[in-house]
Amino acid sequence: MNTLTYFDYAATTPLRPEALEAMAAALAHFGNPSSRYAYGREAAHRVKEHRETVARALGCAPGEVFFTSCGTEGDNWAIRKGVELGRRRGRHIVTTAVEHAAVLETCRDLERQGYELTCLRPDRQGRIGVEQLRAALRPDTALVSMMLMNNETGVVLPVADCVRAVKAFDPGILFHCDAVQGFLKLPDPLAATGADLITVSGHKVGGPKGVGALYVKKGVRLAPLLTGGGQEEGLRSGTEATAQIAGFAAACQAVMADTGRLERTAAVKAYTLERLQAAIPALEVISPGDAPHICAVTLPGYPSEVLVRVLGDQGICISSGSACHKGKPSHVFAAMGLPRPWLSGALRLSFAPDSTREEADRLIAALTQASQSIFPTMS
Ligand code: PLP
Repeated sequence: MNTLTYFDYAATTPLRPEALEAMAAALAHFGNPSSRYAYGREAAHRVKEHRETVARALGCAPGEVFFTSCGTEGDNWAIRKGVELGRRRGRHIVTTAVEHAAVLETCRDLERQGYELTCLRPDRQGRIGVEQLRAALRPDTALVSMMLMNNETGVVLPVADCVRAVKAFDPGILFHCDAVQGFLKLPDPLAATGADLITVSGHKVGGPKGVGALYVKKGVRLAPLLTGGGQEEGLRSGTEATAQIAGFAAACQAVMADTGRLERTAAVKAYTLERLQAAIPALEVISPGDAPHICAVTLPGYPSEVLVRVLGDQGICISSGSACHKGKPSHVFAAMGLPRPWLSGALRLSFAPDSTREEADRLIAALTQASQSIFPTMS
């Protein structure tokens, strides 16, 4: 196996050493936080400390953080129970066509159950405007769900402005934000957006897979998605995944301590984009991404699945879009109205603060070579 050259940090991130260490300690301390004896209370105390850390990362109070099993669970919980909370207002949901499947499929499921769905279309750059959202609001709108940072284009949606517009229209409309890609990737804390519900996930920030959190703004009386033993203040039953939670918190702590991370990530992304365009004249930039870590390019007409496989065989990991697509054309790029050859050759590159120019050079050389050995079709 070649050395791994990884440019797929939007799909998942390697576990940070701090997270691994914290997880090992938490696995060794196997107490159940709900047990009343001292060993259990110690586990509960640790979870409390981890909640405080994640709350600091979100910019909110610890009592507003509820641990989940992943971003998908957070999105499902927020949307399914959010619309229930707004049922007296009506059954209209507003979301965007560029959301992750965890949001889109949940909204479509609700549509099948009788809710009405308005899906805001992006422009050619993948942007959604505040005016578009304002025009979609109705007296019976129960919930708006809008992501912060798109996982395929790296475009940042104007969530704070949209929250203001929604609340000015009617403070009773709930605002959910899927911030799985935006968490710890912007200078401002997420709670400052003003959203009522915010989803984050551990494995996108150097934590383990199998843990996430839902921010529920104080005063929002969201019902639980999972009922049972009443953990997490009765809002999320299931014995706390103490090791996952410990790893998630340790990763947040380590990321927050790295104050130069956003600049370093953006710099290596800019370097890669510039060199790629110079090396491969056919390459087009779909989105340079406002996000420090994500951009999208295309080799029009080339089969991106083949490019991904050829690079993968050399130990270079990139993606043809969201890892969740599994070979289907990206609904995000399609919604942006990209021409068919652009869709077929679309590639997502995503970076970390520790990505190096040497790694970028390896990627550029490999993609250049692949583009010379594979033939495009322009249909
Ligand atoms: N939302 C966005 C924007 C994502 O990028 C992802 C994962 O790729 C998810 C939700 C789902 O998160 P998880 O993998 O933790 O379920």
